[in-house]
Amino acid sequence: MKPVIGITPNYVHETGLFSLHRDYAAAIETAGGIPVLLFPSAEPETKPNALPDFLDGILLSGGGDIDPLLFGEEPLRQNGEITPLRDSFELTLCRAALESGLPMFGICRGMQVMNIAAGGTIFQDIPTQTGSTLKHSQQAPRPHATHSVTPEENSLLAALWGKKNVAVNSFHHQAVARLGNGFSAAAHSTDGVIEAIERQNAAFALGVQWHPEAMKTQDQALLFSAFVRAAGR
Ligand code: MN
Repeated sequence: MKPVIGITPNYVHETGLFSLHRDYAAAIETAGGIPVLLFPSAEPETKPNALPDFLDGILLSGGGDIDPLLFGEEPLRQNGEITPLRDSFELTLCRAALESGLPMFGICRGMQVMNIAAGGTIFQDIPTQTGSTLKHSQQAPRPHATHSVTPEENSLLAALWGKKNVAVNSFHHQAVARLGNGFSAAAHSTDGVIEAIERQNAAFALGVQWHPEAMKTQDQALLFSAFVRAAGR
């Protein structure tokens, strides 16, 4: 049996439309998993989202900004559009998965959701709050790598890659600030921004700030196969 991986889609409240780039599903399929879409309950008040029992892992996809009130901060002017339905759905799902030890992989916003679900915080705007001048909102084709990241020694990421530096794409103006409980930084960019997080001595939980599903390289495929392998155990 192939592991079933639930993926959270994006949501636009003006139109009521959910969406997910095909690259996420393709990456899971290529890694040997079965991708399925996850939706928030239509009656969130009466039916809080429990983890569906057919899932072997969850993939938290990329998207817009998270409501800063959810990590105990007032919104900065630079904070972008927020999607309350997606925020509450993903945080509930992620907390349940952290508790039950369900393998999870977070991409971009997904990594930030994981960190906040575990009690951490994020920078609402990297340039404003860290003073970094590194370009994290790239103006280049989506698969193209524009800045490098260095995996931490002894991290899962370093073990998977076996490299000191890997160039990645970058489409974010926010980043992990205070790490969530049980998480450690797994990679940094040259400006000190945390580009990946992972939970050690626990079920597979990896978050990356870049978009591996869009890069379609061997290095990035290793991340999906490690995740799907963990989900299959
Ligand atoms: Mn970046």
